Amino acid sequence: MTNLETLKLVKEWLAEAKLIAFFGGAGVSTESGLKVYRSRDGQYSKMEAAQEDPRKIMNKRYIMTHPEKFFNRPQTDRPQTDRPQLIEPNAAHLVLAEWEQAGKDVRIITQNVDGLHQKAGHRFVVELHGNGRTWHCMECGRVYLPNEAPRDEQNIPRCYVDQGIVRPSVIFFGENPQSVDINRSIETIQKADVLIIAGTSLTVYPAKNLIYHFEGKRVIVINREPLDLQKLEVDAFIQGEVGQVFAKLNEMQPGIL
Ligand SMILES: [Zn+2]
Repeated sequence: MTNLETLKLVKEWLAEAKLIAFFGGAGVSTESGLKVYRSRDGQYSKMEAAQEDPRKIMNKRYIMTHPEKFFNRPQTDRPQTDRPQLIEPNAAHLVLAEWEQAGKDVRIITQNVDGLHQKAGHRFVVELHGNGRTWHCMECGRVYLPNEAPRDEQNIPRCYVDQGIVRPSVIFFGENPQSVDINRSIETIQKADVLIIAGTSLTVYPAKNLIYHFEGKRVIVINREPLDLQKLEVDAFIQGEVGQVFAKLNEMQPGIL
């Protein structure tokens, strides 16, 4: 089957679907200029080049024991989510938001922390790994804007009430997603009749297990490389950049509603 025939079929399934669950990973944001964390020139690789294990730094225990190192790490080692003005939604975020705004029930479950689905105008978004748009105090949970909390003499952001460390509200290595987000993800995947898995290698727990809650009709995978889902039959695999695929899908007939 040619790619075009697959796309036509997929568009028909999407047009018929009552609830589309979109499960996305880092590959959804690469066309927005975000480096894939594990890619050769991504953030983790830069840390690795400097012989720092990213799992050591992007880690709750590290922040608590070495906050001065964490908050003074070189700018090049920081995710671009620290500077959200630099990145914009791409066609994938925009098309999905457009479909939702047109009245289609499209629900996003993302492993990304960049907030690009919301920036595109999407309403239903579960952020499994948290987000960089807010920071919070590790002691009391008070919420801050990024870089809003006053810094101490070591450049560590401190809660003005209890002097707790104020950190980005992303899920680090060794931390679990919020149970409310896990539950919303499972409920969404269970209810959906079409599941799109896009731009993810599904290597990170619990993401790789969530998709097996799907009980609906069609599973569509969009990725640069084929995925082996083992326990889940894939009805269509589209090889390519996620944004480009959505741009094409959006142009095709039938319309989404
Ligand atoms: Zn506090």
